[in-house]
Amino acid sequence: MSEGRIFNFSAGPSMLPEPVLKRVQGELMNYEGSGMSVMEMSHRSKVYDKIITDCEANLRKILGVPDNYKVLFLQGGASGVFAALPMNLAANGKADYIVSGNFSGGALKEAKKIIGDGAREAGTTKDLNFTRVPTQDELDLDPEASYVHICYNNTIYGTKWHYDPETGNVPLIADMSSCILSEPIDVSRYGVIYGGAQKNMAPAGFAFVAVRDDLIGDEMGITPKIWSFKTQSEKASMINTPPTFPIYVCNCVLEYLLEIGGLEEMKKRNVAKSALLYDYLDSQDFYTPHAEKIDRSMMNVTFRTPNDELDKEFVAGSVEKGFTNLKGHRSVGGLRASIYNAMPYEGVEALVDYMKEFAAAH
Ligand SMILES: *Cc1c(COP(=O)(O)O)cnc(C)c1O
Repeated sequence: MSEGRIFNFSAGPSMLPEPVLKRVQGELMNYEGSGMSVMEMSHRSKVYDKIITDCEANLRKILGVPDNYKVLFLQGGASGVFAALPMNLAANGKADYIVSGNFSGGALKEAKKIIGDGAREAGTTKDLNFTRVPTQDELDLDPEASYVHICYNNTIYGTKWHYDPETGNVPLIADMSSCILSEPIDVSRYGVIYGGAQKNMAPAGFAFVAVRDDLIGDEMGITPKIWSFKTQSEKASMINTPPTFPIYVCNCVLEYLLEIGGLEEMKKRNVAKSALLYDYLDSQDFYTPHAEKIDRSMMNVTFRTPNDELDKEFVAGSVEKGFTNLKGHRSVGGLRASIYNAMPYEGVEALVDYMKEFAAAH
């Protein structure tokens, strides 16, 4: 890591790969001889058109997005897409939501504003304080729903779906904000995948959506044009000014990922990082992990010390070590280490060393 930079365990916005930051720095004043920064450039210019076109092409390539899917870049983040989903896809007024944490609950709340009680909770692990996701047996799915929505990686509770729920003919939609690009996925199993960019893709400023062709086109009359999957796909996400700079940085991240070996390589690194932390957690009894083993997240690792006081002390001590953002989300408490793609292995090693030291001292 460069001089003065610290290990930032933030849940988002989060670390970006250093080679990407350096590239952006190098291109900032005069992007490829254009005489200006990407921030200052018309989104309708030839130079920018190449950036957004490359970004989409690279995202398709790296994720293996099938040709019968549209890829969109939309402002409003993942929360904006929460509202867009029912407007675009729930023409019959029915949609099932599996609530496995904070964001899946948030997606359901937004859907209820649009289609009322037609948006249904079709399973939840709230009673277990979201220590795992529901099993197939615990789901109560409506075969007439327009879609079933899941949050694939639960950022706050540190859990992840390790299976795809069987939904019959009903398309599965997955919020992948906090796990996109962390490992290969089979996009064709989902009707839609989407997510905010600020965890693994880019700085904050947009959400990506990959939506299967046949699901587009039956939107509600009230759908604002900027939230219309149909209009946005016809206009290549350029109905209005897109978040030009974050999309540019996203393309730099994608090119970097392709350079290092794509998602297979990224997965290898993420498995190694998360195993280091979980193996330590499993080898001791000072810290208690929050998530059940079967559904542990590779990106957000949640745990606690024996009490709230020690959690606070742990956080204070971690700052002295040059770490930041290890405090758990207020809704679950305890501690959380978000170890997204850009967190180096050395960062997790240093964290585990500190955890050992702290446990020994208390
Ligand atoms: C961060 C996050 C969100 C919220 O993203 P915004 O872009 O801030 O709206 C939604 N879902 C998940 C899983 C997240 O991690």
